[in-house]
Amino acid sequence: MLNDKELTRYSRHLLLKEIGEQGQEKLKAATVLIIGLGGLGCPAALYLGAAGVGKLVLVDGDKVETSNLQRQIMYKANHVGTGKSASAQKSLYGLNSLVEVEAINANVDDSNITKLVQSADVVLDCTDNFATRHLINKTCFEQSKTLISGAAIRGEGQFMVFDFARDAGCPCYNCLFPQSSEEPTLNCQNSGVFGPVLGIIGSMQALETIKWIIGKPLPSAGKLKVFDGMNLSWMEFKMSKNECCEVCCN
Ligand SMILES: [Zn+2]
Repeated sequence: MLNDKELTRYSRHLLLKEIGEQGQEKLKAATVLIIGLGGLGCPAALYLGAAGVGKLVLVDGDKVETSNLQRQIMYKANHVGTGKSASAQKSLYGLNSLVEVEAINANVDDSNITKLVQSADVVLDCTDNFATRHLINKTCFEQSKTLISGAAIRGEGQFMVFDFARDAGCPCYNCLFPQSSEEPTLNCQNSGVFGPVLGIIGSMQALETIKWIIGKPLPSAGKLKVFDGMNLSWMEFKMSKNECCEVCCN
């Protein structure tokens, strides 16, 4: 049951036939794990916190730096030097004290990923490195947890949903970008990125998370969507399972 405060706060959700009171209760009961609190994790966490997702688990071992403020919209200038997860937790409690936010000041690795993924209904990959993406993909596949993945560099964004919970036979991240291939040399640190492109992709991660939690179909599942921020155009590629994939085809 939603209380009076929740009925007021989420009134624009309650008006939606897709959400309503029942959907809002599903959001309240859900736990979402957000790995990486940079340019993607910030908008995703803000929208999910505002939407009333009952529990957000935020994982990042970095501190806020001045050069983050160009795009990581959760943080203010006075957060520079403080841990990202704790700063994000504070910002989210300022936004919505009705949700629970757990801040984990660590990067994911073999020692903590299993438990973190176990605790969540949906996992958002908002990280920026190949090795971590593979670790998240493998763990989500093994635990049949839906993985919503975003990436951006320069003026381009990428978006993928691996709905392992609903479609055990779907391709995985390693089918597309095998771990054995060379790690991409371009990253935001050496190539730059338009902040709003991260906002668009991070917001899509939040939107698909909300839709997944309320039980709506995700037409994005199984597709790689690529956003060209310079032309404001999208391209869509159907992902196919690699029958030799070391992660999902053993
Ligand atoms: Zn695979």
